[in-house]
Amino acid sequence: MNLNKTIRGFIAGCWWMVAACGSNPQQPQQQTDASTQASSVTVPDFNADSAYTFVSTQVEFGPRVPNTAAHIACADYLTATLSRFTPQVIEQKSVVTAFDGTNLTMRNVIASFNPEKKGRILLFAHWDTRPWADQDDERSREPIDGADDGGSGVGVLLEVARQLSLKSPTIGVDIAFFDAEDWGEKGGSSEDSYALGTQYWTKNPHVAGYTANYGVLLDMVGSRNAQFRIEGFSGENASYVVEKIWKAAASLGYSNYFLFEQGGYVTDDHYYVIRYGIPSIDIINSDKTTRNGFASHWHTHNDNMTVIDAATLKAVGQTLLEVVYKEGN
Ligand SMILES: [Zn+2]
Repeated sequence: MNLNKTIRGFIAGCWWMVAACGSNPQQPQQQTDASTQASSVTVPDFNADSAYTFVSTQVEFGPRVPNTAAHIACADYLTATLSRFTPQVIEQKSVVTAFDGTNLTMRNVIASFNPEKKGRILLFAHWDTRPWADQDDERSREPIDGADDGGSGVGVLLEVARQLSLKSPTIGVDIAFFDAEDWGEKGGSSEDSYALGTQYWTKNPHVAGYTANYGVLLDMVGSRNAQFRIEGFSGENASYVVEKIWKAAASLGYSNYFLFEQGGYVTDDHYYVIRYGIPSIDIINSDKTTRNGFASHWHTHNDNMTVIDAATLKAVGQTLLEVVYKEGN
């Protein structure tokens, strides 16, 4: 993903000013009728150790860079694992061309739960990893482990999938692992150079005419003390989804991760799903203290298993289950 270039200047000036002068909603004292009804639903317990293992297993394949053996092996693993949880798993295989002219053999993997349900939620993450550590001072041309950037979102969603297989939710759920997100141009001067797998999917949805009530993207959701601020495109296009998820997190005691503060604009997979027509949000770690607004391990060799914390995976995963299981259809 990349900071949106067209409004980067805006961000530089206003990122934190918005947080300071924007709304800072307190937790609501009153519940809606729907949420009162839904509060009787027993939400499964998200197993953070299981999610952690799903992250470390991906990392053990090596960097999941398109056109490598590790990439193929991990795609096979993702498909096989999802197939343990639901018979409805679709692989999309194609070749897309990166900004630098490289043809990337890509594979999107999409699992569906309650495929007959009209009301649906799309949960998604990218599973590929960046081919370069271009934010690192050392070995910057070598690929990164991508434990957080790639591995964490997929790890959380694999555990969500496992839970969905054990107890069916009322609503339909699709879990999409999109490929070829992170072979984008540093600085982002090439238009649409990131999120190639998601862009492919928006032109070739796995189900003709596919739609969902809303979408939730997980990107860099596994590091210790992660802070999720309200990403710009998410707040502009799907504020009710932001509110739903941030309130669910607060109700579970995770307000130290999910901050009611404005974040920057990030051209990430959700940007293309929004353009496709599904209001979507990006749960993405941000850091006020770094120059680029991302965590210091972003696109460096420090993005390895040492930054991953099961407590963060738990906060994100339990929040997602809370929202998914309390949705009616
Ligand atoms: Zn990345």
